[in-house]
Amino acid sequence: MSLKFGVSGNSDSFYQEGNKRTVEAFAWLKDRELDAFEYPFGRGVSMSDETAKEIGKEAKKHSIIVTAHAPYYINFADPQRLEQNIAYCLQSAKALNLMGGKRLVVHVGGQKKLNREVALKNCKAGLYHMLNILEEEKLPVTCFIETMGKPGQIGNLDEILMFCRSDERLYPCIDFAHIHALNQGSLNSEDDFLQVLLQVEDSIGMDKAKQMHIHFSAIEYGAKGEIRHRIFGEGFGPDFFLLAPLLYQRGYEGVLICESRGTQAEDAQTMKERYILSKI
Ligand SMILES: [Zn+2]
Repeated sequence: MSLKFGVSGNSDSFYQEGNKRTVEAFAWLKDRELDAFEYPFGRGVSMSDETAKEIGKEAKKHSIIVTAHAPYYINFADPQRLEQNIAYCLQSAKALNLMGGKRLVVHVGGQKKLNREVALKNCKAGLYHMLNILEEEKLPVTCFIETMGKPGQIGNLDEILMFCRSDERLYPCIDFAHIHALNQGSLNSEDDFLQVLLQVEDSIGMDKAKQMHIHFSAIEYGAKGEIRHRIFGEGFGPDFFLLAPLLYQRGYEGVLICESRGTQAEDAQTMKERYILSKI
C-alpha cells in the first residue's frame, strides 16, 4: 500500500475545461492519475442524499477515495453549543457515508476567552461525546482531527496527539502548512519534517501514525500564524520535496489532500510525481 494523493474541492482547471458538477470530478481525477477527493463541507452540509449517492457511484467506478471536511465553525471548546456541533459532525458523517467515504476531517475548536486547560478539557469531552453518537448511529466513519495554524485555535501538534492518545477512535490530520505557520516557519529541512513524523509515531504508535490524514499546501503566515493558503511556485513554504522521501521510506499509507486554492489538482500531481520519484 502506498500513500494516496488528492484534492480539496474542484480546481480552477476542472471548471475551465467545461465541467460543472462535482459528480464529473471522478473521471477527471482518474485521467490525471489522482486518487482522492475531499468534499469541503466548510460552510455547512447542504447535499441531498441523491447527490451523495451519485457521487459515491462515480467515485467507486473510477476508484477515487472520497473524504470530507466537517464545517469550520464547529467548536468543541464551547459546551453550550455541543448539541449543534455534534449535529454538524453527524450530518457530515452521514453525507460522507452515502458517498462511500470513511475519513472525516474535523477542526476541534477555538480557545476564545477560555483558559487553555478548560478549553482542552471541554474539547476532549465534546469529541468523546461526538464519537459515541457516531457509534450509536452505526456510521463507519473515522474522525481525523486537524493541526491548526493560529495560536487561538485548539489543535497544535501536542494537543492533537494528546486527543488521539486519549481515544483510540481518533486519528490525526497533520496539516504541515499549519504547523509551519503556527511555529513561524519551522519546516525548512528534511530533518524538520522527520522530527514531526517521529513525534507522531512515538506518541500514537506507528500503526496509527501510518494511517494519518495529511493536508499539504504552501502557506503565508505572520506574527499571528496562518494568513492564507498559497499555491506552489509563489515562493512560500513549506517544501513538499523535503517530506516526500520520508513518507515513502517510513511506509505512510493514508491520504494526502492538497489544499492549494485553485491549482490543487496540478499541485497534487506535482506531489504525487515527487513521491513516486522517491521510490526509485
Ligand atoms: Zn481544515
